[in-house]
Amino acid sequence: PDRSEIAYFGAGPAPLPTPVLEEASQVLLNYNNTGIGLTELSHRSPEANAILSHTQTGLRRLLDIPDSDGPDGYQILFLQGGGSGQFSAVVYHLISVWIGELAKTKQQGLDAEVAKMRLDYLVTGSWSLKASQEAARLIGPEHVNIVTDARKARDDGKFGSIPSRDTWKPTPHKDDVALTYYCDNETVDGVEFPTAPSGPNLVADMSSNFLSRPVDVRAHAAIFGGAQKNVGTTGITIAIISNRLLPPHATLAEPQLLRKLHLPNGPIVLDYPTISKNNSLYNTLPIFDVWIAGQVMQRLLDQSPDTNTPRITAQQATSNHKSTLLYGVLDTYPETYTVVPDASVRSRMNLCFRIRGGDSAAEQAFLKGATQRGLLGLKGHRSVGGIRASNYNAVPVEAVEKLAKYLTDFAREQ
Ligand code: PLP
Repeated sequence: PDRSEIAYFGAGPAPLPTPVLEEASQVLLNYNNTGIGLTELSHRSPEANAILSHTQTGLRRLLDIPDSDGPDGYQILFLQGGGSGQFSAVVYHLISVWIGELAKTKQQGLDAEVAKMRLDYLVTGSWSLKASQEAARLIGPEHVNIVTDARKARDDGKFGSIPSRDTWKPTPHKDDVALTYYCDNETVDGVEFPTAPSGPNLVADMSSNFLSRPVDVRAHAAIFGGAQKNVGTTGITIAIISNRLLPPHATLAEPQLLRKLHLPNGPIVLDYPTISKNNSLYNTLPIFDVWIAGQVMQRLLDQSPDTNTPRITAQQATSNHKSTLLYGVLDTYPETYTVVPDASVRSRMNLCFRIRGGDSAAEQAFLKGATQRGLLGLKGHRSVGGIRASNYNAVPVEAVEKLAKYLTDFAREQ
């Protein structure tokens, strides 16, 4: 089929707006009349630096990220290793800050203090679960406190809710907490935080809802996300890091002190201070991916000329409109469709539902009919099954309307 006939709702790398793809095919051959393609240009060339700066500025404007060298400012970093790499990076870095700050005032009895250190994880789906498991692997499960495990809140023992905050069990002493971790949107389970949680040294994984609504950056110590869902192509991960966590505003633990305490020193390519000091050019940066992200951001900015509101507000309205339309149809036919997560935490990005209570013949028939209509990528994640319609920024309203029509037709035929 022709690409223009396909509507893709996959949760993998998201499609990009067609104009970006068209321009991308040209810059791959010849970037800006340099005679050299973008993937051939050095990441240290003036062109690459301009691309980097354009993308950073775009992101700052979209999410209103404070730009200063002082403690209130934030750095925007581009790294490799995916969202999964950041599961490790945040652990390495935040324990280094926690211990570095402690060692400033305490020389004796550090071991006893470090034994009390906790990393608080809100486990609301498969990705925050994985992140908490990585923390336990790196520093030992005794340091990981599961503030809430959403599986325990449902009769089916599955993810699909965010337990109410009065049931959470954060580490009692705030000063013991090196980080408080949550995943803003759980891609596999279709669960999204309606509003951000809070906690000391708040870290958010926004891989699958990046740039789909305003974010209170100032409430976070770190925010990260792989680019491949809502921002661009696979290959870069964006991290927004508070200056309070970076030298000179933060004191980091010396490597030999971490070794003495049997705590890990992280790999240099995931080391925020190193990447920040080198403006993300410590090692070879896939500048093509950064260019793509910059082009996508530019389009988001262009559709939001009002500088008095967060510039991402227009995209938020579109995301809300599309997901409301689809949930509306799903809720109209409860005999046919069951949305998996609780109504209050339904993701606007990944709509997970079952057909006739998970009847596999009906779900197969649904997928087959969808493919015939050019509606692709609707199969749920292999770990949970069912149907998942991902509604990333690049999915046009018309594609969602087509899917809504199919959902209606399918239900009426039942
Ligand atoms: N976090 C979330 C919310 C994700 O959806 C994913 C991947 O789908 C990841 C982390 C892992 O990202 P990566 O595959 O880039 O390591």
